Amino acid sequence: MTVTRSVCCYCGTGCGVRVQSDGQRIVAVSGDPDHPSSRGKLCTKGSTLHLTMTDKAQAGRARYPEMRTVRGAKRERASWDATLDFVADRFARCIAEHGPDSVGFYVSGQLLTEDYYVFNKLAKGLIGTANIDTNSRLCMSSAVTGYMQTLGADAPPASYEDLDHAECFFIAGSNTAFAHPVLFGRLEEARERRPETKLIVVDPRRTQTAARADLHLAILPGTDVALFHAMLHVMLWEQLTDDRFIAGHTEGFDAMRALARDCTPSWAAEVCGIKADDIVTAARWFARSRSTLSLYCQGLNQSSSGTAKNAALIGLHLATGQIGRLGAGPFSLTGQPNAMGGREVGGLATTLAAHRDLGNPAHRAEMERLWNVPRVPDRPGLTAVELFDAAARGEVKMLWIACTNPMQSLPDLPSVRAALEKAELVVLQEAYANTETAPFADVLLPATSWGEKDGTMTNSERRIARVRASVPKPHEARHDWEIASDFGSRLARRIGADASVMTFKNAESIWMEHRECTRGRDLDITGLTYAILDERGPQQWPFPEGAAAGTTRLYGDGVFPTASGRAKFFVEAYRPVAESVDARYPLRLTTGRLRDQWHGLSRTGAVPELFGHVAEPRLGMSPGDLARRALKSGDLVRVESRRGALHVIVEADEALRSGQAYLPMHWGKRYLGGAESDGVNTVTSRALDPLSRQPELKHAAVKVSAVSLPWRLLAVAEAPPALLHELQSLQADVAFASIVPIAGTHEGVLLRAAHSKAPPAGWLATLDALLELQGDDVLRYDDTRRARSRRIRLEGDRVVAMRIAGEPSCIAAAEGLAASLASGASIAAFRRLLLAADLHALAGSMPAASPIVCRCHGVRADRIDAVLARTTGDARARLAALQRELACGTECGSCLPELRSRIGTDGPKAGRMAA
Ligand code: SF4
Repeated sequence: MTVTRSVCCYCGTGCGVRVQSDGQRIVAVSGDPDHPSSRGKLCTKGSTLHLTMTDKAQAGRARYPEMRTVRGAKRERASWDATLDFVADRFARCIAEHGPDSVGFYVSGQLLTEDYYVFNKLAKGLIGTANIDTNSRLCMSSAVTGYMQTLGADAPPASYEDLDHAECFFIAGSNTAFAHPVLFGRLEEARERRPETKLIVVDPRRTQTAARADLHLAILPGTDVALFHAMLHVMLWEQLTDDRFIAGHTEGFDAMRALARDCTPSWAAEVCGIKADDIVTAARWFARSRSTLSLYCQGLNQSSSGTAKNAALIGLHLATGQIGRLGAGPFSLTGQPNAMGGREVGGLATTLAAHRDLGNPAHRAEMERLWNVPRVPDRPGLTAVELFDAAARGEVKMLWIACTNPMQSLPDLPSVRAALEKAELVVLQEAYANTETAPFADVLLPATSWGEKDGTMTNSERRIARVRASVPKPHEARHDWEIASDFGSRLARRIGADASVMTFKNAESIWMEHRECTRGRDLDITGLTYAILDERGPQQWPFPEGAAAGTTRLYGDGVFPTASGRAKFFVEAYRPVAESVDARYPLRLTTGRLRDQWHGLSRTGAVPELFGHVAEPRLGMSPGDLARRALKSGDLVRVESRRGALHVIVEADEALRSGQAYLPMHWGKRYLGGAESDGVNTVTSRALDPLSRQPELKHAAVKVSAVSLPWRLLAVAEAPPALLHELQSLQADVAFASIVPIAGTHEGVLLRAAHSKAPPAGWLATLDALLELQGDDVLRYDDTRRARSRRIRLEGDRVVAMRIAGEPSCIAAAEGLAASLASGASIAAFRRLLLAADLHALAGSMPAASPIVCRCHGVRADRIDAVLARTTGDARARLAALQRELACGTECGSCLPELRSRIGTDGPKAGRMAA
């Protein structure tokens, strides 16, 4: 066994992992106690990374290059040489006939910095197009423009160390407890040490993070700017601003003050839907604290006023001097592991390498010299949504997609589908062949993934860490940079360019080229080497030549990287969300993350254990809104926006205010589909922020209605997760299909379906074959007149596969039976009921599965509530009792916020808190 030190590949916290392998397989992971960002901690996702590397979880890997030369044909296996020559020929011809902007690259914040660098050089340096954008556009571009418009550079000024010292935490638009659990754990530890520390949370939903707050501002979606301006109004009125800091280190405050003058707390209370007194309290706590640290994420960024939200919050820090000091500052949390690295190499369509500007002739000349190319583009390229729009119009003819899944993650998926169908060539460079985007690819290039790659990533606190391979490249996969480099060399020869521009020896040689690009820039890392990272561990930028160490905190001297050296107030009045609710679409739909899942589920979706906390796609709505529509938890509903519709099961969610609905972002078509749905983003909005071009994924106007789909089906089977993929073929013939792995003592797959009438007999026959429900040992029941049928296979007294089709009441009766498969419970007592004409006798006889709160120890909510029901004492004593009796919350700590919520002041809660 060998142990390799690397970094978790999920969120931007960038936790260090120690990876144990036998040279061929990764068998275990643990937190790296020497990693300065995480100090040995991992959340549920990081601590199960090794489970994503089992043979079963890896069944969906792309293994060898595949291509088709005719649209609609099946892709065939081909050699790397033949595939890359084919793609280079097509790209060269397209560029010659239509110019460099007729091709586009859509890459990913999960690429390593070295991969990103090569792609950026390929597009902007070799081909001469800025049409390279990244899925970071969907999560971070408003943070980028927010920093640039105010502080002068795309550089988060704070560090995780500030979590240990802040006296007031201001969390806006971030369910940190779920999205960055290790950071939230550190914040909670700091509050335990200093109970007087204040936590303010701004979030439309009462998330696990909000539930822990001293003050929760449950604003209406998209109204953050009004809140921040009203807080500034209070600070001005009560003379809580830091006038010396404003006068000495900022500019534009007069205009900002003039704007804030009219933004009274009572005005903002009306706009935001909260109490004016709470706005006053928030402003006082923020300004009076000796150190206020703001943490923010997608709630600010994924908005049509994302730049204004970021800049208004940063403005509060400038107005109070809460920046550049221990424990203070605005601190954007990155969603993806290497969104920061991508920003550093200029991997966005709107930037050049090392925070340079495409519109600046001197910056372009520097890059032409550094890259040894005749020209780089002088204007921004097409950003994510715009790139796919241009493809749909036929203007971008060739799309190269790397390490991302746009048919799951972009908003307004009907238009993305149109783009992928219209493009003349779609190249997909991916580790996984089973993503929602894969069927659209004409060319599939298998790439290496976490545990197999070598390079660097940068986390939210500007810390660069080495990513190291623990196992060899699988099958015929190649590293992302190798593929881009090889393709670039072949393309260069075809377009008469210098192929040596795209030739690299290894990851380190690429990084050294990137390092040289940063010389003299705000993110200068010319003093850093791979050797230093290997010897001294992860380091923060800037780290210029001659420096002994990296830089923990920026702007301590009050000098900002603007032309005047002063930070700027960004003066923009509050604008409502782009798509207002109305009589036709009366509900505000917002999206967010689940604790145990990651983005489009290509990796976590293959680990059944991660479905224990939240088992299936559910739409959350307030209990009152459900009652007004005569709906109840468990009903199937239709969610419809101006772009499309989907079907999903609804549940009452007390974390939501009336008028709101909530869907986790993760459920793509593979998990939540049907004939007309491509998953969650079928209905989300494509409205863009005017500066950051980031789409408003956090708000869409929708209507929710009961559906009339009388034919229902529930099927479960003990099976490996790979069966999920085979079941996809059944989606097209039914209006609703939801397919998920089952987490439990017995691994399996669960399928729900609904349609207006029973599908053709062949549909059920295919399903029965896939679930092995055709043998003589299968119990059968058929009532063709009422379109009811059942197939149940038992092993002893355990259900190992079943499907029940009929009207909704049949399905309700079968839920407990389905749950018994996962738990392995005996159904001996109910056996005689299995073939009864009416299943009602079965309904309620078998317990429904309780969600798993603590994944590490498999502790379910019902056991936690049972212990709490007989435990007395204060919150600390009750938590200790839970930990002593059930061991929950003693390992990774990701469940601690939920345990504390359940302990709460109201005693144990019946339901799970919303994500
Ligand atoms: Fe990975 Fe969790 Fe750490 Fe994020 S918080 S980097 S997902 S272990």
